[in-house]
Amino acid sequence: MEKLFVNDPFVRVYEAFKKLYPDNDCFCFWTDDLKDAHGVTLFSDNPRMSPEIFISADLPVKHAVEILAHELAHVAVGADADHGEVWENAFEAIHQEYCRATGKGEMTE
Ligand SMILES: [Zn+2]
Repeated sequence: MEKLFVNDPFVRVYEAFKKLYPDNDCFCFWTDDLKDAHGVTLFSDNPRMSPEIFISADLPVKHAVEILAHELAHVAVGADADHGEVWENAFEAIHQEYCRATGKGEMTE
């Protein structure tokens, strides 16, 4: 399928993730069903099943881009890393690659 938006920030953050973690994959969904979170990543017990990311459809686009990067960092480092240093390093790496590729100073610009 062709891209609908030429400068889709969600595609750009996913491309940053894939450049850094080419062997990691996931499925991403918008949802209306998140009550207490902006986003969540679900890992299957089956290692052959890709993680699933759910992003709240209630978020402003710029905020949702950062939440997607947050959840992609979970996919990058696995369920056990939680929000520790390994996860923080992955989130920062995705953020830096996104900013480098887009020429932006911040993900929310
Ligand atoms: Zn998290």
